[in-house]
Amino acid sequence: MPCYRCGARQTDPVRGASPWQRGVRNESQVLICPDCQRLHDLDLDSCGTCGSTALICRLGEVECRSCGAVWMARSGAPLTGSVEPPPGLSAEVEAALNRVLGRA
Ligand SMILES: [Zn+2]
Ligand SMILES: [Zn+2]
Repeated sequence: MPCYRCGARQTDPVRGASPWQRGVRNESQVLICPDCQRLHDLDLDSCGTCGSTALICRLGEVECRSCGAVWMARSGAPLTGSVEPPPGLSAEVEAALNRVLGRA
C-alpha cells in the first residue's frame, strides 16, 4: 500500500519497527511515509475521546490505540472537510473492503 498522500511506495521491509505510520483517514486504513509524517495537515481521522490519530481500522470498526476506544466505521457521522480521496485509492480500498466482507 503506497503513502496515501504522496503515493510513495514502501521500500523493502526493514527489520524492526517500520518508519511508516499507519492511520485512518475517512474511516479507511492508510499508510503515511516518513516524509509526509512531518507535515501537519495530514487530515487523519482522530479519536473522539482523546484526539489521538493513532487509529487502526478493521472490519468496519475503528480502534484508538491510545485510549482503546472503538467505534463503528461508516457510521454516518459527518466527516470533517470535503476533500475526496484519490479515485484510484478509494476504489482500491473499496475493493479490499468488499473482499474482506465477502461481498461480490
Ligand atoms: Zn508520503
Ligand atoms: Zn482515543
